[in-house]
Amino acid sequence: MRVKFNYWSTNDHTLIDLLANGLDDLKELDNQLYSLFCVEHKRQMNELMMVASCSIVPPAVLICQSMSAGNVTAEGYPGRRYHAGCENIDAIENAAIERAKQVFHAQYANVQPHSASSANQIVLFSLLNPGDTILGMDLPSGGHLSHGAKISYSGTCFNAVSYSLSEDFLIDYDQVESLAIKHRPKLIICGTTAYPRQVDFKRFREIADKVGAYLLADISHIAGLVIAGLHPSPIDYAHVITTCTHKQIFGPRGGLILSGKDAGMLLHDKKKSLAEHIQRAVFPFFQGAPIPNMIAAKAMALQLTQTENYKTTMYRILDNSRVLGAALMSLGFDIITGGTDTHIVLIDLTRNGISGNLAERALEQCGIIVNKNNVPNRNSKSTISMGIRLGTNSLAQRGFGQIEMMCCAEIISKVIGNMTGDTWDTVAVNDSIRKNVREQVGELCNRFPIFNY
Ligand SMILES: *Cc1c(COP(=O)(O)O)cnc(C)c1O
Repeated sequence: MRVKFNYWSTNDHTLIDLLANGLDDLKELDNQLYSLFCVEHKRQMNELMMVASCSIVPPAVLICQSMSAGNVTAEGYPGRRYHAGCENIDAIENAAIERAKQVFHAQYANVQPHSASSANQIVLFSLLNPGDTILGMDLPSGGHLSHGAKISYSGTCFNAVSYSLSEDFLIDYDQVESLAIKHRPKLIICGTTAYPRQVDFKRFREIADKVGAYLLADISHIAGLVIAGLHPSPIDYAHVITTCTHKQIFGPRGGLILSGKDAGMLLHDKKKSLAEHIQRAVFPFFQGAPIPNMIAAKAMALQLTQTENYKTTMYRILDNSRVLGAALMSLGFDIITGGTDTHIVLIDLTRNGISGNLAERALEQCGIIVNKNNVPNRNSKSTISMGIRLGTNSLAQRGFGQIEMMCCAEIISKVIGNMTGDTWDTVAVNDSIRKNVREQVGELCNRFPIFNY
């Protein structure tokens, strides 16, 4: 196989030529990969994507990720790089920083973290010493691995204490406060992966102040609702805010670190500010060279969050999840907290006697993509998840509205009511039901063939 170096062959090639050549070459040089990309794209178009952490990246953001700006090694920060030739990369990164600050009303933004998990790691190590105590939500309640789980660096490098949820599945702020007073953490983390209600950042800050702890708000799941003003912002309550850029920001896989009014506060050494500590922890402490094309994609995605279309989509995400939750309840399902204030709807399948694992598999067989989720408080000793987590990001981006969400609730109910088998390998859905649901899924998808980012 001969590689055609079309990439460099003309002086006047446009970006379109470059990308088109790339696609032609891919097809010719690696048909296996090319075919996989095609079928995966088709799958995404033709299935109901209801995994709460998913969303669809708009073409303008997707294309930034393929740009040759990624060829540049640019260790350091704009204006202070360790390599020459970074003038354009500096401008890209400065644009991303400015937009992140503007979008979140932040005083400080770092756009280099490769993921939200890295962003959290960077924040923990920039503010704490190994062995210090942190307080975060436990994993079974919906905390993230990086919030102090024992199977993560966060729970092994630090003395992690965790809070859980009350009997009615809400954050028990009094419990958080008493744990904080008892254990005197140096840092408290709020932010969750499977919490359908609003987080009271103000209350968290009051607790943090009471014990002299830093507050880190990880808004990975709800960043878009925060941007659109549909969930309170933590910007001036938390010392530091982290988020990934690939859930509700509709950006590339990556992370952001932000700070509001505390950005300039001097830390323990009384020499450097909080923002300066974070800046050094991102580079050179944890990361090497940033990924310029991903930073460009973050800049593009942040820009799109300022459009009317984005705001409408965020509103639809929220409206759709409320309708979905209500419809599922009226079909007899137990919905955790009895509804939602976010994009997340959690179904508790305990009463149905079906594990989340098997429900996930049965729904997948019918083209409905969800993920199993632990039901807080129910099965803390068991490894079997008794719930499933649904999210409305992708479907709302597609243009689904209330009527479609009611259809979704009905077909989810139909699948769960017609499952057989009790292991991953044997689980199946009644043949005619499966065909019928597949058809309905196809029909719903066809009704909204173009994503309305
Ligand atoms: C998804 C998520 C993360 C992890 O993001 P990655 O970029 O995949 O590392 C971290 N924290 C919370 C709360 C999340 O929901």
